Order: sequence, then C-alpha cells, then structure tokens
Amino acid sequence: MLYVYRFRLYPKKEQVEFLNRQIGHCRFVYNKLLEIAKNNYEAEGKKWNYYEYKKLLPKLKEEFSFLKEANSQSLQEAVRWLDRAFKNFFKGIAGFPKFKNKKRVNSVSIPQHFRIEGDRIKIPKLKTPIKFKKHRDIEGKIKSISITKLPSGRFYLNILVDREIEPLPETGRVVAIDVGLTHFCTLSTGEKVENPRNLLKTEEKLKKLQRKLSRKVKGSNKYLKLQGKIVKLHEKVVNQGNDFLHKLSKRIIGDNQAVIVEDLNVKGLLKNSNLAKHITDASWRRFISYLEYKAKLYGRKLIKVSPFYPSSKLCSRCGYKNENLKLSDRKWKCPNCGEEHDRDYNATLNLLKEGLKILKGSLTLRAVGLERPELTPVESAVALVEAGSSSFQ
Ligand SMILES: [Zn+2]
Repeated sequence: MLYVYRFRLYPKKEQVEFLNRQIGHCRFVYNKLLEIAKNNYEAEGKKWNYYEYKKLLPKLKEEFSFLKEANSQSLQEAVRWLDRAFKNFFKGIAGFPKFKNKKRVNSVSIPQHFRIEGDRIKIPKLKTPIKFKKHRDIEGKIKSISITKLPSGRFYLNILVDREIEPLPETGRVVAIDVGLTHFCTLSTGEKVENPRNLLKTEEKLKKLQRKLSRKVKGSNKYLKLQGKIVKLHEKVVNQGNDFLHKLSKRIIGDNQAVIVEDLNVKGLLKNSNLAKHITDASWRRFISYLEYKAKLYGRKLIKVSPFYPSSKLCSRCGYKNENLKLSDRKWKCPNCGEEHDRDYNATLNLLKEGLKILKGSLTLRAVGLERPELTPVESAVALVEAGSSSFQ
C-alpha cells in the first residue's frame, strides 16, 4: 500500500537557492509544454499525448540552456504531472490545466538517485545533503521523493513508500461517527470530540489579521508584511488541523474493527457558499480520507453510508421521520415515541444501524478484519499530500 511521509526540510542558504532553481525548472517545463499543448488544442483541437510532448524535452533543453543544470528525471516527472492534469481534464473531473504560479505551492519530484542517511537527504546534482526533521521512523520500501515549497518559503520533503499491511489485533467493536457543527464530531459511544484549542486559537488570530489586512493600503509595505504573516499562519492552521485529524483517526481505527461514516454529498459541497460550513466539509473530507487509508493499512473496515440517508431526521428509537427538523435544532423530542434526542448523537445511532445493515450478510464481524477493504484507491495516499498543499491554491 502506498503511503506518504511528510517532513519539514531545513535547507541552508545555498541549498535553498539550488532547490528554488530546480523547482523553477520543473515549473518552466510544465508551463512551456502547457502553452504549446494549449495552442495546439485551441487552434486545431489537437489532444494531449504524453509521448509526443515528452519528445519535446530535448528541444526545450537545447533552446533554454539553463535547463541543463536540472535533473532530467525531475523534468520528465513535470511532464507526467501535466499528463495527469490533461487526463483529468479529458475525463471531465477537472478543468483545463492551469499554468503554475511561482507564488503558489510548487514542487520537484525526484524518482531516483537520492539517498536518505539518518535525518539528511542527498539528492542528485547537489553535493551537500539537506537536513530534515525526522519526527518518525520511515517504514516500508521507499519508492520516490518530492520536495514541496509552500508560499511561506518553507520546504517539505515527501517520501513515498510501499508499506506492508499490518493488521492490528481484532477488537470486534464498531463505531459510527457524525460530523458536528458546534464541535468536530460525535461518536456513537456518546463521545463528542471538540476541535483542538490550539487550532481554534490560530484560526481566530488568522481572522483578526485578515480583517486588519482589509484596512491596509494594497501593495504598501505594511500590507505586504501582514500578508506574509497571514500566509505563514494559514500554513500553521493546516498543519495543526492535519495533526489533529491524524491522531484522532489513528485512535478510532485502533479502537474499532469497523468505522461507519456518512459519505459526503459532493454536489452539495460545491453548491455551498457558507464559508464556515465549507471549511468544516473540507476537514471532514480529509478526515474520511485519513480513516480510509488507516483502515486499509491496519486491516479495518470503513463503511460509508449514502449522504441521502436521513440520519439526523430519523428517530433512532422508533424510526419516525421528523421532516421539520431544522439545522439549528440541536435537540428534539420525537412526536411519535416521546424520546428526547441530542441531534448529533441520535444521528450516529442511525448511522450505526444503517452501517451494520451494509456489513451484515456479506461478512460476519470477525471476518471484517480479514477482509481487504477495496474502498481505498491506492493513489489516495498521494492525493493526501496534494490535498494538504492544494488548500493554498
Ligand atoms: Zn421515536
């Protein structure tokens, strides 16, 4: 199973310059080929073809001699990124590929000829190894690496590994989780998980600075300085959020044999204009993807219940459907059986019932752990890192 480790890189000054140039070369090749492909497509409707455009690389190197100092394999990877972008476009799951912008998240892929020695990474064409903060051991067979630069100027090292599935001892427990509005989520055990305090604090600070920024003159020194601070703070919010989601998903997967969640209504997501709700949905989606690959890694089962299942509106005791339930109703009393409900807890009980129905029949609970969940596309681990950076775009 593919898995991505992410570590903060601490390059020295001359290493920063080297990385900036390498990343710049990849961006240059990507944009140049995109420009050619775009023209061809618009002028004659000619579709993208990976092999055809890959052949243009040597010509580009001749024309732009600075590309000679680039790692050729990294440039080839840049063509592959473009290939993926075009494939997604023609599949209809993404818009037309966009030009890469220096101010956004930028990366360089290094598929081969790198070496990891302790907390240092040696990459092709750079004599000195770069230090990284190795906050955890790397397990599995290392496949490739990439280096990402965030808008704040920070660098991260992504290490793609192929990990063996390591089933945890069976527990036989099943839990359902429902996303919360006033807190992060509710479990069918009755537990309510709050958003972490440090994250809320950073978010609050970020909002304050954004309000302050709106009062400054655009482009002034003070404006730019504040903008720099906001970019850093935004990255901190993402990091703190990810850290929290990793810990929580690990605990839930460790404790339970099967986890039931409500799948996301993607169409509803796109239509949503409420920003707070949008952020909640984004972290919920990330949380589900973490649960998904951890379930796969540890031999657990993740069950997704259709977003059209009315988990909030049903009475978990008698099954009565409360059509009048509003989003603001945190508590309600069932007019049929008189049961008093906490909105979120009631929803988790319904999700639990519905999820168990899905589980039943094809599998017994004991077999759940032995069954290899086919739910996760292998690429989800890769997408994860990209999801982390795409929130800046
Ligand atoms: Zn009832």
